[in-house]
Amino acid sequence: MASASSVTVKLNTGAEIPLLGFGTVSEDNVENFKEALTAALVDAKYKHIDTAWWYNTEPYIGEILESLDKSGKIKKEDIFITTKVWPCFWNDPENSIEISLKNLKLDKVDLLLQHWPVCFQKVEDSNGRVGLPKDAAGNILYDKNGDYLVTYKKLLKLKDEGKAKAVGVSNFTIEMLERVIKETNVVPACNQVEMHPHLPQLDLYNYCTEKGIVLEAYSPFGSSGAPNLKIPLVKELASKYDVTPADIIVNYSIAKKIVILPRSSNAERVKKGYKLINLEKSEVDALDQFGVTHPQRFVNDPWGKGLGFEHWG
Ligand code: NDP
Repeated sequence: MASASSVTVKLNTGAEIPLLGFGTVSEDNVENFKEALTAALVDAKYKHIDTAWWYNTEPYIGEILESLDKSGKIKKEDIFITTKVWPCFWNDPENSIEISLKNLKLDKVDLLLQHWPVCFQKVEDSNGRVGLPKDAAGNILYDKNGDYLVTYKKLLKLKDEGKAKAVGVSNFTIEMLERVIKETNVVPACNQVEMHPHLPQLDLYNYCTEKGIVLEAYSPFGSSGAPNLKIPLVKELASKYDVTPADIIVNYSIAKKIVILPRSSNAERVKKGYKLINLEKSEVDALDQFGVTHPQRFVNDPWGKGLGFEHWG
């Protein structure tokens, strides 16, 4: 059976992006993370890594890419690398990309994303930039003068300067996408959002499809604990096709040409990869309909509240 790591879709830049990418948020220890990443690249033949300054995993990704490249197990340039600019860098994303490129041991990334359409104050401590600055009462310190459009424009400049081959966004609503397109005339290459059978976001899906914006599904299994793998229809289809529930969610996304970014720090699990199957259109539609009638968002970070996302909280 073919593997899901082999299929790609075209970005509006003309570049191909692999539909399966390795999610690199890590809740585990560094050694397990590195082992899982190695299994993804060497055994499961992933060609795409999704990371961010915020995840604190870029240095380990840089180390593994370099060592696997040196030992001839992979070619670094064959791997599609995405990183993201966190809101504390909203006004100076050039500093963010410098840090990311240094940690990743690269001179450019394939895709640079604006992580969130919000702006935090620039606060430094002895460890460097504070990712989530808060006042004494625990309130997030937003930059009142900030505007996410400024960040988007600066990311486009970074692309022109050769630091990224493509620029996209993450956690953008239709209204936000329309604003940046209207103000810059540049359609983002992609929009990375939470998307899965519990949250198909069909209006956003239809809008992005029409505009040629590739959607990327984060938290596809419902994040920690993988609740989406317990959806009865997912389990039913897994047994029909003799694959795992995780394979069904991956193939649901691939059938819709949505990039999918599952995470696992379990190297044995990662090694197996995901099987490529042909879900019937009626099955993909049924999974969408499940989400329409049972909507649930699993990632409800406080800085996303009030931004207009579907089914928040
Ligand atoms: P996922 O939805 O990928 O779920 C991860 C969980 O699923 C882990 O607990 C993992 O456990 C478990 N899991 C994985 N495979 C299986 C399996 N086959 N059977 C049972 N359990 C399984 O979570 P994330 O929220 O991390 O999302 C994935 C990626 O999306 C992130 O790593 C990141 O790259 C991106 N992301 C982007 C965001 C953004 O704002 N742009 C926000 C959130 C995520 P185990 O490790 O034990 O396998």
